[in-house]
Amino acid sequence: MTTRESTTTETAVQNTSDTINRPLEANSISLDEAQELVHIGSWQWDVASGAIAWSDELYRIYGLKPRVRSIGYEEFMQLIHPDDREKVGSIINEAYQTKQSFEFEHRIVLPNKKIRILHGKGKVISDEAGNVKAMLGTSQDITERKKADQALHRSDERFRAVSAATSDVVYDIDLQTNTMWFNDALNTEYNYPQRRTLYTPDWRLNHIHADDRERVKASIEALLDRQDKTWVSEYRFRLHDGTYIDIRDRAFVLRDTDRKPIRIIGSMLDISQQKELERAKDKFISLVSHQLRTPLTSMRLLTEMLSSGYAEELTVSQHDYVQKIESSTVRMIHLVNEILGVSSIETGRLNVRPTETDVCALIQTQIDEITPLAEQRVKITYTPDETARTVTVDPTLFSQIVHNLLTNAVRYTLRDGATIHVSFQKVREEYILTVQDHGIGIPMEAQPHIFNGFYRANNAIKARGDGTGLGLYLIRLILDMTGGKIWFKSQEGEGSTFYVSLPSCGMMNNQMNKAIIQKTQA
Ligand code: ADP
Repeated sequence: MTTRESTTTETAVQNTSDTINRPLEANSISLDEAQELVHIGSWQWDVASGAIAWSDELYRIYGLKPRVRSIGYEEFMQLIHPDDREKVGSIINEAYQTKQSFEFEHRIVLPNKKIRILHGKGKVISDEAGNVKAMLGTSQDITERKKADQALHRSDERFRAVSAATSDVVYDIDLQTNTMWFNDALNTEYNYPQRRTLYTPDWRLNHIHADDRERVKASIEALLDRQDKTWVSEYRFRLHDGTYIDIRDRAFVLRDTDRKPIRIIGSMLDISQQKELERAKDKFISLVSHQLRTPLTSMRLLTEMLSSGYAEELTVSQHDYVQKIESSTVRMIHLVNEILGVSSIETGRLNVRPTETDVCALIQTQIDEITPLAEQRVKITYTPDETARTVTVDPTLFSQIVHNLLTNAVRYTLRDGATIHVSFQKVREEYILTVQDHGIGIPMEAQPHIFNGFYRANNAIKARGDGTGLGLYLIRLILDMTGGKIWFKSQEGEGSTFYVSLPSCGMMNNQMNKAIIQKTQA
């Protein structure tokens, strides 16, 4: 056809419509409408006359006014993008020669110079003798779809490039097919073989350490149920040689328009070295603290002996120095004990042993122990509540909580004659311990930080130079482990009230509390 002269005229277009497309004429209105709706135009080329007839929609696709004029072959070629003209010509030519149907994509240039991409389909109509009588076809504007495909392709390419460049194991779970794609790092870093078929989410789950598996499984299920997009978890993962490494897994959930999760894309970062360092640090802290405890206790004993005149009577200034050594030693013992407490909870070495306990007696013992510290400056009031006498708590840990709160209340009350109120009651489904003082209070700006380890408010540093900033942190760790809560109300200069709540079953042991946390997360 490219070699033929085009002789397109208005009459020829009319002829073509009459001869080839007559059956369609009856429906032409609805056909036009249908074409407009789906943005597909159609054309017919009558070989005998050389005329090409376009549907209205095809004119619109080319940015032209419908049926204002007919389009000849050469003019049609001018509308094709210059770089695609040769391809389009040869496809049509080949179809003409072979009488085969054809399908292709090409670009066109609109009168406003914008470029669109069309998808064309066509077929050849021959007469009984086998001579080509006409060609007809359709053209659809696929520019937007192509752009979306290209964008998708580019982002897919980027994802693959990042996956190839990183030594982290990157995965992509298809929740519809229940398959799991991994990047090459699964092979190069973890030594698992490349598979012809894809891995599955169950395969991954089964390679998570048995002690971590249920937790991870529950948190993935909870993630899919909730509307969250991101997820982070740490667990031990088995390598091909059977050894385990520590993993930090960060994932992102893709959802469809109904918010149903369809894919989870994530990366598994090997944090074994970091974990190893943390373990070494914790071990070091606990070892040093243990080692310090014995000599510190001897120092305390010896200074006590010295100051009580056990060896020889001391001069006044010697006595003064020895007392200073003694109080520093006591402070150091206190610090070492708190660090040990924190480190044993943080490393999970602390076992909670809840037993039925006379909590009222336990609180009274703590008050009695603290009273000498109060040095008659402050009064502590406490009326045991018989309805909350026997509760299941770990006596050591509960004593620690009461002790820390009481010590703070006494130490941060500077006004002589002030009273500290202590209560322990059952309030609906909880037990509430309250320690209320009328001391220095906590400044507003310090309030969000006081449960952080080593944090001390400025007014507290000024009032008492000897704090560690670990007492409340330790209480929070204990309560996190045992299913309790702590909060406070305070106003600077007016005083503070600390509240501790325990569930009606009392303190829970580590396993019970873990199970409840998982259940509420799910
Ligand atoms: P420490 O008392 O050894 O500094 P804590 O962890 O027990 O450490 O307390 C952290 C900080 O919280 C204190 O330094 C102080 O700023 C504030 N705080 C705690 N209890 C009270 C209280 N009863 N009154 C005023 N401030 C308090």
